[in-house]
Amino acid sequence: MTFLRVAVYCGSALGKSNVYAEKASELGKQIALKGFGLVYGGSTQGLMGKVADAALAEGGEVIGIMPENLTGKEKVHRGLTELYMVDSMHTRKKKMVDLSDVFIAFPGGCGTLDEYFEVFTWAQIGLHKKPVIIYNVNGFYDALIEHFKKMMEEGFLREHQHGILKIANNIDELFVMIDESHQIIKKSI
Ligand code: AMP
Repeated sequence: MTFLRVAVYCGSALGKSNVYAEKASELGKQIALKGFGLVYGGSTQGLMGKVADAALAEGGEVIGIMPENLTGKEKVHRGLTELYMVDSMHTRKKKMVDLSDVFIAFPGGCGTLDEYFEVFTWAQIGLHKKPVIIYNVNGFYDALIEHFKKMMEEGFLREHQHGILKIANNIDELFVMIDESHQIIKKSI
């Protein structure tokens, strides 16, 4: 099986409902069980910690990327397969993109959205061809998905750009999409 690295962008908070932590753990576990690697921000906090710990518990590869100026605010996970300490948020995002084959936006806050939109817009202008997937746990991204429709209706998002938008409403749909990227990678080897 081709080895894939999956970047997960998610909240440094846990969220109010337990469903987010449960689904984050399920995602980390399944990434490891499929034999894929996880790339994420490198913190123990919130949903980030849940995804990482669940993948590690199944013996998965977990790579964290932490900006040095964030270590006072976010607790660094010291049990990872590999931890990159980088000089800035920008370097973190670039490193995550370089290391990963597919990107998942899990529920989170502004940091998660920032990371999602950067990787989306990089795909939009052709800087990479890797899939960018919203994992719409608990309908968390319903309003954002509506807004994408609005951007299209109002002429701010073109059809081919809208094609970059991929939404998974459950983990089975998510892994079908990840598997599609797997096929693309296999073909290009
Ligand atoms: P949040 O979704 O706001 O809880 O943040 C999730 C992760 O994104 C955290 O590790 C934040 O440190 C990180 N983050 C916040 N802002 C940025 C940014 N501008 N660039 C890269 N990562 C960020």
